[in-house]
Amino acid sequence: MRLRNVAGSREAIAMSRFVVQDPKIRKGNWKDLFGNQHPIHIEIGMGKGRFLMDMAKIHPEINYIGIEKYSSVLIRGIQKMESEELPNLYFIRTDAEEITEIFGKEEIDRIYLNFSDPWPKDRHAKRRLPSHEFLDRYRQILSKDGRLEFKTDNQDLFSFALQQLEPAGWKIEQMTYDLHHDKAMMEGNVMTEYEERFSMKGNPICKYIITMS
Ligand code: SAM
Repeated sequence: MRLRNVAGSREAIAMSRFVVQDPKIRKGNWKDLFGNQHPIHIEIGMGKGRFLMDMAKIHPEINYIGIEKYSSVLIRGIQKMESEELPNLYFIRTDAEEITEIFGKEEIDRIYLNFSDPWPKDRHAKRRLPSHEFLDRYRQILSKDGRLEFKTDNQDLFSFALQQLEPAGWKIEQMTYDLHHDKAMMEGNVMTEYEERFSMKGNPICKYIITMS
Protein backbone atom coordinates (compact mmCIF):
# COMPACT_ATOMS: atom_id res chain seq x y z
CA MET A 1 0.00 0.00 0.00
CA ARG A 2 1.40 3.40 -1.00
CA LEU A 3 1.26 5.83 1.88
CA ARG A 4 0.99 9.57 1.76
CA ASN A 5 2.13 11.28 4.92
CA VAL A 6 -0.72 13.20 6.51
CA ALA A 7 0.69 16.18 8.38
CA GLY A 8 -0.28 16.23 12.04
CA SER A 9 -1.73 12.72 12.06
CA ARG A 10 0.55 11.43 14.82
CA GLU A 11 -0.34 14.36 17.05
CA ALA A 12 -4.07 14.02 16.32
CA ILE A 13 -3.94 10.30 17.12
CA ALA A 14 -2.11 10.97 20.38
CA MET A 15 -4.94 13.33 21.41
CA SER A 16 -7.87 11.27 20.18
CA ARG A 17 -10.31 9.74 22.66
CA PHE A 18 -11.21 7.12 20.03
CA VAL A 19 -7.67 5.71 20.19
CA VAL A 20 -6.49 3.63 23.12
CA GLN A 21 -3.21 5.34 23.90
CA ASP A 22 -1.52 2.78 26.11
CA PRO A 23 -3.09 -0.50 25.06
CA LYS A 24 -0.65 -2.79 26.91
CA ILE A 25 -1.92 -1.71 30.34
CA ARG A 26 -5.41 -2.92 29.34
CA LYS A 27 -4.26 -6.49 28.74
CA GLY A 28 -6.80 -8.85 30.31
CA ASN A 29 -9.27 -6.03 31.10
CA TRP A 30 -10.54 -4.84 27.72
CA LYS A 31 -14.20 -5.32 28.67
CA ASP A 32 -13.79 -2.50 31.24
CA LEU A 33 -13.12 -0.07 28.40
CA PHE A 34 -16.55 -0.75 26.93
CA GLY A 35 -18.30 -1.10 30.30
CA ASN A 36 -20.09 -4.31 29.33
CA GLN A 37 -19.48 -8.02 28.86
CA HIS A 38 -20.10 -8.12 25.11
CA PRO A 39 -17.76 -10.18 22.93
CA ILE A 40 -14.76 -8.39 21.43
CA HIS A 41 -13.99 -8.62 17.72
CA ILE A 42 -10.86 -7.08 16.20
CA GLU A 43 -9.76 -6.19 12.68
CA ILE A 44 -6.01 -6.27 12.15
CA GLY A 45 -4.88 -3.90 9.40
CA MET A 46 -8.15 -1.94 9.48
CA GLY A 47 -7.02 0.74 7.04
CA LYS A 48 -9.42 3.69 7.12
CA GLY A 49 -11.93 1.76 9.23
CA ARG A 50 -14.93 1.58 6.94
CA PHE A 51 -15.60 -2.13 7.60
CA LEU A 52 -15.44 -1.72 11.38
CA MET A 53 -17.64 1.34 11.42
CA ASP A 54 -20.29 -0.46 9.40
CA MET A 55 -20.00 -3.57 11.58
CA ALA A 56 -20.20 -1.53 14.80
CA LYS A 57 -23.42 0.12 13.59
CA ILE A 58 -25.02 -3.19 12.55
CA HIS A 59 -23.92 -5.04 15.71
CA PRO A 60 -24.26 -2.89 18.82
CA GLU A 61 -24.07 -6.14 20.85
CA ILE A 62 -20.42 -6.59 19.81
CA ASN A 63 -17.41 -4.52 20.87
CA TYR A 64 -14.93 -3.76 18.09
CA ILE A 65 -11.28 -2.78 18.11
CA GLY A 66 -9.40 -1.76 14.98
CA ILE A 67 -5.63 -2.15 14.75
CA GLU A 68 -3.66 -0.14 12.21
CA LYS A 69 0.07 0.37 11.93
CA TYR A 70 0.18 3.71 10.14
CA SER A 71 -0.96 7.05 11.53
CA SER A 72 -1.59 8.47 8.05
CA VAL A 73 -4.20 5.75 7.47
CA LEU A 74 -5.70 5.55 10.96
CA ILE A 75 -6.35 9.28 10.99
CA ARG A 76 -9.07 8.76 8.37
CA GLY A 77 -10.91 6.39 10.70
CA ILE A 78 -10.66 8.91 13.52
CA GLN A 79 -12.06 11.65 11.30
CA LYS A 80 -15.05 9.42 10.49
CA MET A 81 -15.62 8.73 14.19
CA GLU A 82 -15.55 12.46 14.91
CA SER A 83 -18.55 12.93 12.64
CA GLU A 84 -20.29 9.73 13.72
CA GLU A 85 -19.26 8.53 17.16
CA LEU A 86 -19.83 4.84 17.95
CA PRO A 87 -19.73 3.61 21.57
CA ASN A 88 -18.65 0.07 20.66
CA LEU A 89 -15.55 0.88 18.58
CA TYR A 90 -12.00 1.89 19.51
CA PHE A 91 -8.75 2.03 17.59
CA ILE A 92 -5.16 1.11 18.40
CA ARG A 93 -2.16 2.35 16.44
CA THR A 94 0.37 -0.42 16.58
CA ASP A 95 2.08 -3.18 14.65
CA ALA A 96 0.14 -6.44 14.82
CA GLU A 97 3.31 -8.11 16.06
CA GLU A 98 2.47 -6.60 19.45
CA ILE A 99 -0.96 -8.18 19.88
CA THR A 100 0.02 -10.79 22.46
CA GLU A 101 1.30 -7.97 24.66
CA ILE A 102 -1.97 -6.10 24.25
CA PHE A 103 -4.63 -8.80 24.63
CA GLY A 104 -4.80 -11.54 27.25
CA LYS A 105 -5.49 -15.23 26.81
CA GLU A 106 -8.90 -15.87 25.23
CA GLU A 107 -9.80 -12.18 25.43
CA ILE A 108 -10.80 -11.91 21.78
CA ASP A 109 -13.77 -13.68 20.21
CA ARG A 110 -13.16 -12.99 16.54
CA ILE A 111 -10.34 -11.73 14.36
CA TYR A 112 -10.86 -10.19 10.93
CA LEU A 113 -8.08 -9.92 8.37
CA ASN A 114 -9.30 -8.01 5.35
CA PHE A 115 -7.14 -7.53 2.25
CA SER A 116 -3.92 -7.91 4.20
CA ASP A 117 -0.75 -6.69 2.51
CA PRO A 118 0.63 -9.56 0.36
CA TRP A 119 4.38 -9.09 1.02
CA PRO A 120 5.20 -11.00 -2.19
CA LYS A 121 8.91 -11.60 -1.51
CA ASP A 122 9.63 -14.96 0.16
CA ARG A 123 11.94 -13.38 2.68
CA HIS A 124 9.01 -11.26 3.94
CA ALA A 125 6.60 -14.21 4.33
CA LYS A 126 6.50 -13.94 8.11
CA ARG A 127 5.17 -10.39 7.83
CA ARG A 128 2.03 -11.67 6.08
CA LEU A 129 -0.84 -11.45 8.55
CA PRO A 130 -2.17 -14.97 7.75
CA SER A 131 1.31 -16.55 8.17
CA HIS A 132 1.83 -19.35 10.70
CA GLU A 133 3.87 -16.93 12.82
CA PHE A 134 0.83 -14.68 13.14
CA LEU A 135 -1.56 -17.65 13.51
CA ASP A 136 0.45 -18.65 16.60
CA ARG A 137 -0.05 -15.16 18.00
CA TYR A 138 -3.79 -15.22 17.26
CA ARG A 139 -4.05 -18.57 19.07
CA GLN A 140 -2.79 -16.90 22.24
CA ILE A 141 -5.56 -14.28 22.36
CA LEU A 142 -8.56 -16.01 20.77
CA SER A 143 -11.29 -17.64 22.87
CA LYS A 144 -11.64 -21.42 22.52
CA ASP A 145 -14.68 -21.17 20.25
CA GLY A 146 -13.40 -18.01 18.54
CA ARG A 147 -12.79 -17.76 14.82
CA LEU A 148 -10.73 -15.92 12.29
CA GLU A 149 -12.12 -14.61 9.01
CA PHE A 150 -9.83 -13.67 6.14
CA LYS A 151 -10.77 -12.03 2.82
CA THR A 152 -8.49 -11.17 -0.08
CA ASP A 153 -8.52 -10.88 -3.85
CA ASN A 154 -4.87 -11.96 -3.97
CA GLN A 155 -4.85 -15.61 -5.11
CA ASP A 156 -1.18 -16.14 -4.19
CA LEU A 157 -1.70 -14.80 -0.69
CA PHE A 158 -4.81 -16.95 -0.29
CA SER A 159 -2.94 -20.12 -1.41
CA PHE A 160 -0.16 -19.26 1.01
CA ALA A 161 -2.69 -18.67 3.81
CA LEU A 162 -4.34 -22.06 3.18
CA GLN A 163 -0.98 -23.86 3.35
CA GLN A 164 -0.29 -22.35 6.76
CA LEU A 165 -3.38 -23.73 8.45
CA GLU A 166 -2.87 -27.42 9.13
CA PRO A 167 0.72 -27.23 10.41
CA ALA A 168 -0.31 -24.35 12.69
CA GLY A 169 -3.25 -26.37 14.07
CA TRP A 170 -6.21 -24.57 12.50
CA LYS A 171 -9.13 -25.98 10.55
CA ILE A 172 -11.34 -24.56 7.84
CA GLU A 173 -15.01 -24.09 8.70
CA GLN A 174 -15.98 -22.44 5.41
CA MET A 175 -14.12 -21.21 2.36
CA THR A 176 -14.72 -19.87 -1.13
CA TYR A 177 -12.69 -18.62 -4.08
CA ASP A 178 -15.56 -16.37 -5.17
CA LEU A 179 -17.31 -14.85 -2.19
CA HIS A 180 -19.61 -12.57 -4.15
CA HIS A 181 -21.12 -15.57 -5.94
CA ASP A 182 -21.36 -17.76 -2.85
CA LYS A 183 -24.84 -17.26 -1.45
CA ALA A 184 -24.20 -18.89 1.92
CA MET A 185 -20.95 -17.07 2.65
CA MET A 186 -22.28 -13.74 1.34
CA GLU A 187 -25.02 -13.69 3.94
CA GLY A 188 -24.35 -10.70 6.21
CA ASN A 189 -21.17 -9.80 4.29
CA VAL A 190 -19.99 -6.27 4.97
CA MET A 191 -17.75 -4.89 2.24
CA THR A 192 -14.42 -3.38 3.10
CA GLU A 193 -12.97 -0.43 1.24
CA TYR A 194 -10.54 -2.67 -0.66
CA GLU A 195 -13.20 -5.28 -1.31
CA GLU A 196 -15.34 -2.71 -3.07
CA ARG A 197 -12.40 -1.45 -5.10
CA PHE A 198 -11.22 -4.89 -6.25
CA SER A 199 -14.61 -6.47 -6.81
CA MET A 200 -15.58 -3.50 -9.01
CA LYS A 201 -12.53 -4.34 -11.15
CA GLY A 202 -13.95 -7.86 -11.53
CA ASN A 203 -11.50 -9.61 -9.17
CA PRO A 204 -13.07 -12.58 -7.37
CA ILE A 205 -12.78 -12.37 -3.60
CA CYS A 206 -11.45 -15.35 -1.64
CA LYS A 207 -12.52 -15.95 1.94
CA TYR A 208 -11.94 -18.49 4.67
CA ILE A 209 -13.37 -18.87 8.16
CA ILE A 210 -11.09 -20.91 10.43
CA THR A 211 -11.08 -22.18 13.99
CA MET A 212 -8.40 -23.72 16.19
CA SER A 213 -8.28 -27.49 16.05
N1 SAM B 1 -8.69 -3.82 5.87
C1 SAM B 1 -8.82 -2.66 5.01
C2 SAM B 1 -9.69 -2.98 3.82
O1 SAM B 1 -9.94 -4.17 3.57
O2 SAM B 1 -10.15 -2.04 3.15
C3 SAM B 1 -7.45 -2.13 4.58
C4 SAM B 1 -6.62 -3.06 3.73
S1 SAM B 1 -4.99 -2.40 3.38
C5 SAM B 1 -4.52 -3.25 1.96
C6 SAM B 1 -4.00 -3.22 4.60
C7 SAM B 1 -3.83 -2.40 5.87
O3 SAM B 1 -3.15 -3.18 6.85
C8 SAM B 1 -2.99 -1.15 5.68
O4 SAM B 1 -3.67 -0.03 6.18
C9 SAM B 1 -1.72 -1.44 6.46
O5 SAM B 1 -1.12 -0.28 6.99
C10 SAM B 1 -2.22 -2.37 7.54
N2 SAM B 1 -1.18 -3.26 8.08
C11 SAM B 1 -0.31 -4.01 7.37
N3 SAM B 1 0.51 -4.70 8.18
C12 SAM B 1 0.14 -4.37 9.44
C13 SAM B 1 0.62 -4.75 10.72
N4 SAM B 1 1.65 -5.58 10.85
N5 SAM B 1 0.01 -4.25 11.80
C14 SAM B 1 -1.04 -3.38 11.68
N6 SAM B 1 -1.52 -2.98 10.49
C15 SAM B 1 -0.95 -3.47 9.38
